Amino acid sequence: MSLAEIFSKVDTNADKRVAEELNKRDAYDVLIIGSGPAGAAAAIYSARKGIRTGLMGERFGGQVLDTVDIENYISMPKTEGAKLVGSLRAHVDDYNVDVIESQSAIKLIPAASAGGLHAVETASPARY
Ligand SMILES: Cc1cc2nc3c(=O)[nH]c(=O)nc-3n(C[C@H](O)[C@H](O)[C@H](O)COP(=O)(O)OP(=O)(O)OC[C@H]3O[C@@H](n4cnc5c(N)ncnc54)[C@H](O)[C@@H]3O)c2cc1C
Repeated sequence: MSLAEIFSKVDTNADKRVAEELNKRDAYDVLIIGSGPAGAAAAIYSARKGIRTGLMGERFGGQVLDTVDIENYISMPKTEGAKLVGSLRAHVDDYNVDVIESQSAIKLIPAASAGGLHAVETASPARY
């Protein structure tokens, strides 16, 4: 369990406060749901093209956090889960990516008209 998850369990109003703060943010050009290795890669490639990018997930690192040993991640015959998550995070932080942690998407609301904004609702509840 991450520190952020522990805080949100101890402080029951934390999710609500986070949601209020998140509701005030500007819209993203790209909002990636899920911050495992795939989401991190998508965020890097989106942000490096100057696209306003958000990366939202329950916990940064995904399944890689659930294992000590990682083998055969191409170019790395052997590493550790926590180490790989650390380098993924450092790589993402090299770019202008808004990383939003401890949030679960529960609903996608398509734009009402062409060219409009799609919305994503989270369990907290916040709306992006
Ligand atoms: C015990 C174990 C050992 C492993 N060992 C190896 C290994 O040795 N070598 C190797 O190459 N691979 C290994 N893997 C597999 C590797 O971890 C996965 O292939 C990789 O993490 C997949 O990345 P991903 O980003 O596609 O998905 P994930 O890592 O699953 O990340 C997806 C993220 O999205 C989040 N998410 C999902 N739905 C929502 C939602 N609605 N709202 C917000 N967030 C959401 C999830 O919580 C998760 O954090 C192992 C996996 C495990 C569990």
